[in-house]
Amino acid sequence: MPKTKTLRVTFPERCRRCELCVMESQRQLEKVGLEGALIRISKNNDALSFSIYLDPQVNKLDIEKIRTRCPMEVYTIEERDEDGLFN
Ligand code: SF4
Repeated sequence: MPKTKTLRVTFPERCRRCELCVMESQRQLEKVGLEGALIRISKNNDALSFSIYLDPQVNKLDIEKIRTRCPMEVYTIEERDEDGLFN
């Protein structure tokens, strides 16, 4: 049964805004700079933590590579089968 893999922000509190994940996704899209970025990191009001926005299109990229680029292990990969069940 085919499975769908999804990049998930599991530990956002670990993020240090290094943007290595953003650079990796842009590299895979062959884009320079942040234009059309599928991952965006923004500062929260407390200025010490960050929010991570993932465009669903990011899941068409090599998400395993994006996951491993993050030095803080913020991301996990979720697998679902056709019935939407987690594995
Ligand atoms: S690579 Fe990890 S720590 Fe760096 S910005 Fe992305 S999620 Fe945050």
